[in-house]
Amino acid sequence: CYNFAAGPAMLPVEVIAQIKQDLPDYAHSGMSVMEISHRSALYKELYAETKANLLELMKLDQAEYDVLFLTGGATQQFTTIPLNLARKYHRIAVVDSGHWAQRAAEDAAKVPGLTVDIIASSKDNDYTAVPEIPTEFDQDYDYLHITTNNTIMGTAYRDDQIPKTDIPMVADMSSNFLGQEYDYSKFAVIYAGAQKNLAPAGLTVLVIRKDLLVKHDDLPGLFDFATEAKKESALNTPPVFQVYVAGLALKWLKEKGGVASIEAINQEKAKLLYDCLADSKNFESKVDPDSRSIMNVPFVSGDPDLDAEFVKEATAHQLLNLKGHRLVGGMRASIYNAMPLEGVQALCDFIKDFDAKH
Ligand code: PLP
Repeated sequence: CYNFAAGPAMLPVEVIAQIKQDLPDYAHSGMSVMEISHRSALYKELYAETKANLLELMKLDQAEYDVLFLTGGATQQFTTIPLNLARKYHRIAVVDSGHWAQRAAEDAAKVPGLTVDIIASSKDNDYTAVPEIPTEFDQDYDYLHITTNNTIMGTAYRDDQIPKTDIPMVADMSSNFLGQEYDYSKFAVIYAGAQKNLAPAGLTVLVIRKDLLVKHDDLPGLFDFATEAKKESALNTPPVFQVYVAGLALKWLKEKGGVASIEAINQEKAKLLYDCLADSKNFESKVDPDSRSIMNVPFVSGDPDLDAEFVKEATAHQLLNLKGHRLVGGMRASIYNAMPLEGVQALCDFIKDFDAKH
């Protein structure tokens, strides 16, 4: 079957096979990877290797950036990032590109004393395009927050649509993390829930410029990035299994040739699906072609009964989890790194067959 879920999502079959092999006896330790201590040399080695591979894939220098492996999901970062970074002006700027950007803004606004300004929004066009990212600001901001890929609306920024800004830029990359190339050095902080493109749920990756790792004594250690960095993300018990799977996924990605190579495949998959939708009698993508996500592709017929029939028949054909998000309706195909081209081809063949019958 092919799993088109938005997250938790497919992992590469090679990664699943490796997990199966390692599960009873990790690195000849006699223990399952789920049982090894986060204080053991085995884990420390795994942690260091995973962090180094991640930064290598992102073309970031270990001297300049650190990586934190956290829990609490991307959602927790909507709060933890302002707690750490909004210290001088107590004011942040948010680009509203849809649901998750709004959630980030709403949660940040609950941090005492913090003002959140929405400085650009694509609300007026129902979030079918990404808003332009401003480079000039009327106010002093501690940082600018953007969401690179909008999982629900199916829109995304390409690297050339993201300017270099004078103020630190923070990006929620949850749904296209390592799925397409960015000049990652434009960002001060990048964070992502791992359950889409990297690992099972329960791990959040946060990549942060080292000059921002300033200890804040008023924050509990678990919420203080500098403390977490000093403790190598093991102030409390980290999600060892998830870090291990992320490590496997990163090795898989390196073997594939890195982010540029996987992006080329992802572009091919996305083109196949968007072209198929353009030719479809029943279905269409509502997203502006210049803002199309190559990871999440929502599509609709306009008739909820026909959409429901599509999802039912697709499920019977082993094309799973295509029901769209409730905010958008219709269908959504999430085609992250692990989805092979054959999976997208199978979906396109099914759309053609469905059109012939309906
Ligand atoms: N940001 C984006 C872009 C998302 O797609 C999601 C979840 O789908 C989240 C944040 C929330 O992530 P989490 O469930 O890890 O808190």
